[in-house]
Amino acid sequence: MGGPHVTEEFDEALGRNGGERHADAVALGEADETWPKIVEDAARGTLKEVYAPVDDFGQERKPSLKEYPAIPWDKINLKQFNLIPKMAMRTLRRIGDGWGTFRIIPMESGRGCPYGCEFCTVTGFFGDSIRFRTNESVVSELLLLKARAKAKAARSLSFSSTTILPSTSSALNLCCATSSPRKRRCTGWRKSAPISCAMRNLWT
Ligand code: SF4
Repeated sequence: MGGPHVTEEFDEALGRNGGERHADAVALGEADETWPKIVEDAARGTLKEVYAPVDDFGQERKPSLKEYPAIPWDKINLKQFNLIPKMAMRTLRRIGDGWGTFRIIPMESGRGCPYGCEFCTVTGFFGDSIRFRTNESVVSELLLLKARAKAKAARSLSFSSTTILPSTSSALNLCCATSSPRKRRCTGWRKSAPISCAMRNLWT
């Protein structure tokens, strides 16, 4: 198991606090570097309980997103991302092509947030400095996804990253890259963003 809650309360996940044990092992923080070790240890039968992304001095290490792995969207089964309940699918598909399909596919462009809102885990989990993927990496992934999508089922894109817009330059670069005439494959994209972006007239 992993994620923000498990990172903060890993004793709970491992049943060390007297409760039920929910996992054989936990990955703390971002698991980009620890996941291969976890798989390797599991295959060898030497799984440890806790995996933490630390350097030789025991300090937490945040992975750079500059060398981001290519997600094989050309092979992944996209049906698992369809939010339409199965019982409604058959009825909706009678209406026409594209009905019965509403996929939200997670895609990140960066990690970290400098705002640290008290109700949010992003700054605590990913850090207060922002790490971005390269525009080329994000656009390649977008185009791979679009190549698989039927025109009627994929008119817009939704980014799951919380940090596409805190950096004005990165956001604008990304907008330009995805909307250039040669690469245009979608009619729009949407993203949640801090209100400061609107105050800086980013949308005009
Ligand atoms: S601005 Fe958004 S992502 Fe950043 S800490 Fe606040 S709620 Fe979380």
